[in-house]
Amino acid sequence: MTAEKQQSSEISLKDQQYVWHPYSSLTNPIPAYEVVSAEGVYMKLADGSQLIDGMSSWWCAIHGYNHPALNTVAKDQIDRMSHVMFGGITHSPAVNLCEKLVEITPEGLNKVFLSDSGSVSVEVAIKMAFQYWISQGQSEKNKLLSLKGGYHGDTFAAMSVCDPTNGMHHIFDQVLPQHHFAPKPQIGFDQKWDKSDIAAFKLLLETHHHTIAAVILEPIVQGAGGMNFYSPEYLKQVRNLCSEHNVLLIADEIATGFGRTGKLFACEWAGISPDIMCLGKSLTGGYMTLAATLCTDKVSHGICDGEAGCFMHGPTFMGNPLACAVANASIDILLSNNWSANIKRIESVLSHQIEPFKHLTNVAKTRVLGAIGVIEMKQPVELADIQRKFVEQGIWVRPFGKLVYVMPPFIISDDELEELMMGVYRVLSHE
Ligand SMILES: *Cc1c(COP(=O)(O)O)cnc(C)c1O
Repeated sequence: MTAEKQQSSEISLKDQQYVWHPYSSLTNPIPAYEVVSAEGVYMKLADGSQLIDGMSSWWCAIHGYNHPALNTVAKDQIDRMSHVMFGGITHSPAVNLCEKLVEITPEGLNKVFLSDSGSVSVEVAIKMAFQYWISQGQSEKNKLLSLKGGYHGDTFAAMSVCDPTNGMHHIFDQVLPQHHFAPKPQIGFDQKWDKSDIAAFKLLLETHHHTIAAVILEPIVQGAGGMNFYSPEYLKQVRNLCSEHNVLLIADEIATGFGRTGKLFACEWAGISPDIMCLGKSLTGGYMTLAATLCTDKVSHGICDGEAGCFMHGPTFMGNPLACAVANASIDILLSNNWSANIKRIESVLSHQIEPFKHLTNVAKTRVLGAIGVIEMKQPVELADIQRKFVEQGIWVRPFGKLVYVMPPFIISDDELEELMMGVYRVLSHE
């Protein structure tokens, strides 16, 4: 079946009639591909063709699809209980997960608040920061400082700290709270540090720290806001400046956590600990939606010793046992498989495979870090058109703007990775 036929299947037509997709139009819909099953690094389409998933379903499916050990854990947990409320009740999947997260995350992050999605974990982090300062009697500290080129999610507090130009600020200007933004870090991950890169950030913090509750940023890799890899020195200095000026640091590791950048958490590149950290995406190996916000004792005690006496948040599906059980298993799989050497292997194949792209006249630059490869085009790509061409090559890659990037499942073999990158090359060399 051709791509057109696949897109006119019954499901695809009903899809266009009834269903919203991420950032999609219902008056001018782009047909979506129907996936019927997935296994390893492959997604199987309704027409029987197989695509190598270059996106890990948006950074999540680090162990690939239909993983036997994760399947077993999920089925076992379903037979025990899928869900119970978390108010006044606890269970081993959640407790074991929180203990594990405290053990593997940077020093000092000792308390865990579980929630349902990345955006909610960012809302929780921001609320923690605000409630902390309210509890200290410093409610004038009610602004955030963020970086241009950042992405933190689609809910309102999260949106308010996304890149003010690429993000949704210009549309929602009248309803979003206004925060401070420092320029996007310019010095690349491997480039020689120059303190001019942090000067504007430093000035903003020095000028406004009395009213700033927290700095929120994605450590080392700015993901959906522009796939920017910046210098660990920048992050180190941010940590120092936050401490110096009595401002909390929130590290949003939702995309970078669990090995993607070559460290278990990207904060480790700078050897720093944030006051609050957000985790999501690959937390359950892509099986279920689950997120976590970790904080230090200083933050948790500060909040709970305040007027409210508790942290004012509690989602219905908090600590969902099914998601927690799978998350535990996913982390165990990651840690028991020499993940660090494996990411180095992927990084080295990606670095090699990305070389030829540098000679294409429509490519501006390329970069690789860990299991992330980015090809920045000179012009924005036409999504529907390029998506179809990738599918014809048997690969699944979903660019945005000028950015064509891959972040494959960690189980991808050298041959599959080569096939993925050659498919991308065949498409981009004919654009
Ligand atoms: C994806 C992402 C989010 C939002 O997570 P959702 O699960 O989509 O709500 C927040 N921050 C970063 C860095 C992300 O990559």
